[in-house]
Amino acid sequence: MASVDIRQVRKAFGTFEVIHGIDVDIGDEEFVVLVGPSGCGKSTLLRMIAGLEPISGGEIAIGGRVVNMVPPKERDIAMVFQNYALYPHMTVFDNMAFSLKLRHAERSVIEQRVRQAADILDLTKYLDRYPRQLSGGQRQRVAMGRAIVRDPQVFLFDEPLSNLDAKLRVQMRTEIKALHQRLRTTSIYVTHDQIEAMTMADKIVVMHDGHVEQVGTPLELYDRPVNLFVAGFIGSPAMNFFEGRLRRDGDRAWVEAKGDLVMPAPPGVRGNDGQSVVYGIRPGHLRLASDAEQGLPAEVEVVEPTGDNTLVFCRLGDAVACAATTERFPLRPGERLRLVPQVENGHVFDAATGVRL
Ligand code: ATP
Repeated sequence: MASVDIRQVRKAFGTFEVIHGIDVDIGDEEFVVLVGPSGCGKSTLLRMIAGLEPISGGEIAIGGRVVNMVPPKERDIAMVFQNYALYPHMTVFDNMAFSLKLRHAERSVIEQRVRQAADILDLTKYLDRYPRQLSGGQRQRVAMGRAIVRDPQVFLFDEPLSNLDAKLRVQMRTEIKALHQRLRTTSIYVTHDQIEAMTMADKIVVMHDGHVEQVGTPLELYDRPVNLFVAGFIGSPAMNFFEGRLRRDGDRAWVEAKGDLVMPAPPGVRGNDGQSVVYGIRPGHLRLASDAEQGLPAEVEVVEPTGDNTLVFCRLGDAVACAATTERFPLRPGERLRLVPQVENGHVFDAATGVRL
């Protein structure tokens, strides 16, 4: 079993604490993505799991064994870095074989493992090349090949795709996911890119300022973010927010937002009449009203066709909100229209704490 258990883990650099007691359980064979804005502590947490950074408090266990004092080499993990960290003077074959040679593996074993990894990663025809003779994507595959040949208990990835162009990133993330489906090795992947997190993860850990904000499957985080931070961080384009007050009358609940907007509250919303709240609705859940429908009066500011979608940025009360539609209306700036929020897809958060109601 190669589960990874992170219990009350803290990290301080000198007197400055950057990770404040984090708990995360990563199951055997899971692909877990640590995501959060720059500086939230995700790389530091990954480096502590790898043993590259001592921990200041708490416990990390890999496969049930506490590894706090175990040096990196003995943790049976392999890490793939952002800058690939390839040896420039070695061929692809030798780069991939290096860790096995260090461990005095037999020649035939090295040959077999490297060729197998090269086959999986489509690198066979490049085995005699040097890193400088490869494209960025090919170098990243060699870096992964180096991790695969070690057949570790856990793969750690530290923003491995951030040096690649947008198209190659999309292709590589599919390849990494397919690789995980084939090898089933427990994987922990750090990124600041929430789309990468959503598309790759079995489970996402959203971090912010050295804390864990929420742990869940991509769709759990998307459908039921526990607070304003997660609601704003997950999803692209981002969720629209409106400040206002919660209103209740019997079974009915709604939000009176600034600028005389009335937003229907989703079923089961908690909170008291008059409470200060933030109402959230994703662009895809804000529909353009048909002629016969009531809706929120809005004025078009900017229209962005993406091909699949049209993003319509509108002035709505005091706020600018984005509506995403798959229909191709010929809309122009200044045009007036009405928007309909889908009742069941609204989100309401307490304005003071940010917690979901
Ligand atoms: P990024 O996406 O920018 O890499 P991150 O979420 O991975 O960010 P970390 O690199 O883990 O963030 O850094 C977390 C915090 O710890 C930051 O405030 C950073 O300045 C601080 N930090 C990281 N390494 C050190 C160090 N060696 N000495 C002092 N402070 C550090």
